[in-house]
Amino acid sequence: MFSSLLIANRGEIAARVMRTAKHLGLRTVAVYSDADAGAYHVRQADAAVHIGSAQAKDSYLVIEKIIEAAKRSGVEAIHPGYGFLSENVAFAEACEKAGLIFVGPPASAIKAMGLKDAAKALMEKAGVPVVPGYHGAEQDALFLEGEAQKIGYPVLIKAVAGGGGKGMRRVDEPASFATELKSAQREALAAFGDERVLIEKYVTRPRHIEIQVFADAHGNAVYLHERDCSLQRRHQKVIEEAPAPGMPEEMRRAMGEAAVAAVKAIGYRGAGTVEFIADGSNGLRADAFWFMEMNTRLQVEHPVTEAITGTDLVEWQLRVAAGERLPLAQKDIPLNGHAVEVRLYAEDPAKNFFPSTGKLTRLRLPEEEGIRADMGVEEGDEVSMFYDPMIGKIIAHGEDRTAALAKMRRFLLDTEVAGPRTNLAFLAEIMGHDPFREADIDTGYIDRHIAALVPVETLDAHVIGAALVGHFLARAEALAGDRRSPWVASDSWTLGGARSETLKLMLGDEVLSIRVTPEDQGWRFTHHGVEHLLAGAMNAQGEIVATVDGLRFKAGFVSVGCGFSVILRGATRDFTIPDPLDVDVATEGDTGALKSPMPGKIVAVMAEAGVHVKKGTGLVIMEAMKMEQTLAAAADGIIASVNVAPGDQVEAGAALVVFEVKKDEA
Ligand code: ADP
Ligand code: ADP
Ligand code: MG
Repeated sequence: MFSSLLIANRGEIAARVMRTAKHLGLRTVAVYSDADAGAYHVRQADAAVHIGSAQAKDSYLVIEKIIEAAKRSGVEAIHPGYGFLSENVAFAEACEKAGLIFVGPPASAIKAMGLKDAAKALMEKAGVPVVPGYHGAEQDALFLEGEAQKIGYPVLIKAVAGGGGKGMRRVDEPASFATELKSAQREALAAFGDERVLIEKYVTRPRHIEIQVFADAHGNAVYLHERDCSLQRRHQKVIEEAPAPGMPEEMRRAMGEAAVAAVKAIGYRGAGTVEFIADGSNGLRADAFWFMEMNTRLQVEHPVTEAITGTDLVEWQLRVAAGERLPLAQKDIPLNGHAVEVRLYAEDPAKNFFPSTGKLTRLRLPEEEGIRADMGVEEGDEVSMFYDPMIGKIIAHGEDRTAALAKMRRFLLDTEVAGPRTNLAFLAEIMGHDPFREADIDTGYIDRHIAALVPVETLDAHVIGAALVGHFLARAEALAGDRRSPWVASDSWTLGGARSETLKLMLGDEVLSIRVTPEDQGWRFTHHGVEHLLAGAMNAQGEIVATVDGLRFKAGFVSVGCGFSVILRGATRDFTIPDPLDVDVATEGDTGALKSPMPGKIVAVMAEAGVHVKKGTGLVIMEAMKMEQTLAAAADGIIASVNVAPGDQVEAGAALVVFEVKKDEA
């Protein structure tokens, strides 16, 4: 085994690789961009090398800089993680040329699987079933439309160089083919510098089932069973599990053997994943799965496989890269219990999952057996706008699926996150959703049930009660100017002042006026016309312990600047305290313009001056945090002016489209 390793990545995967590397006694070296100088993965490493500015294309994606960092730090090997340069042929070659061990497959194998069209042709030859469709070289729009017609709608347009669900469009009818093709090509060109596409039959009731494979340099190859990644949004995985619910043993073997055949056909080495799409309309069947693509790297969701097989796949990767044999033979690979993984993202489910950034003012995970949390950040860290907004992954392992899901749900409900908006409550909702618990799943599951899964931000008396307690305590603390104030620690303290007052709090754009009256043992407040009794204090852990109408419960509380967050059962509400001098609170934020929610690049502009638009009409498409986002009208209105054009770089808060303000409102 070599003794030092550079990890050419960031975030949770860099930290995860370092964990195993350290365990094996290796010296670890991190690389970092300007934005990541103090990042978690850098703090975990034995040494770190700065490689450039924040934009990935100027740092994490620059091959020469990574090689230079490896030389400067004197490491023997490089682990690429996932994303970034992990499937880059030139990078694997550059490592080899520099005399560095690339922890991954040979460059030739990455190349063979790099483009979806070539990979499909290769698999067809190896006798692996592939999704029917057109994966030839001809790219003429009319020709492709003709192929789509032959295949039969619905079809899926895919970027041949695609990944991460980008450059992919489902088309249900001939009328929308041309538009969707253009949009797929545009996204593919921007993301991969290659606009070529292929057309596939859209499989009905699709289940995404993939096989973890592993090969060594001595001709051994095994599969470590399957993962079900059917829970997706915009063709991107959100929740993964292993094994796949309802998987017949015969199909597991058929898929495993097909995957091993694929690996052997390309002289593979190391960890890889062969992705299949299965038709789940009549349950899983050994004759209804087709090859989609192979990912020639470690996958985001590898921990669910580690959980059920009791392996450490990064350790396997490092051993294989060092020339060792696979630690287990096929017949000795266990399959124990059931594991599920969720990807915790900084994004706002209520705003169509728009990425969210900023400082994590709170990130607290409960301690629980059978739960593994692979985090990329800690409390106090920033979720930067430059990279993928993943905060981390949580993996639950139980004796069966029901146990694993229950454990996960409980863990999520007890987790506290504040700062950026996150999908935490959404994930918890899925864990408790009947169709999911009954494994009635396919890749359309999230879209189909979205209304039931996106938590409604109802303000019940418990949230208001906890908010009032927190607010009064924060105010008392501010007045006392002493963190260790006896008020804060006491649990018999009655809150607030001595007189009735009307408290104004804002939740988003909504202004709440809450009448609060002191009582013997606490307070009385009115919410939605109903009176409630409240008492509360803060415990030693900094949690609010509130009693509303005789029911006592705990809530997380974080105060930040002129506001605070209340966290109750996995859901975080961000309140702001309106400035008393700002009389026009109700209309604040409603300035008659569509503003850019974050810095980004304008991709397309649909808005036209003088046109009347309805609420929800898409006005501008911008690219931010690696995704195209459509910004829509928040209300009906007439467009006064359009301030941006495709290609423009915009700042957060820039007024992109301005609406006419009606006279009687102005
Ligand atoms: P990427 O490289 O972006 O991961 P994939 O080819 O793996 O692209 O496809 C991503 C997702 O798109 C799959 O997990 C699946 O949900 C969906 N998908 C891909 N091909 C098909 C298909 N032919 N029919 C139905 N859904 C598909
Ligand atoms: P998977 O099938 O494992 O989700 P994808 O092909 O979707 O694999 O992408 C691999 C992962 O790498 C994704 O989670 C994606 O968000 C991540 N990724 C890709 N590029 C970057 C990047 N520049 N920064 C951070 N993460 C990235
Ligand atoms: Mg894929």
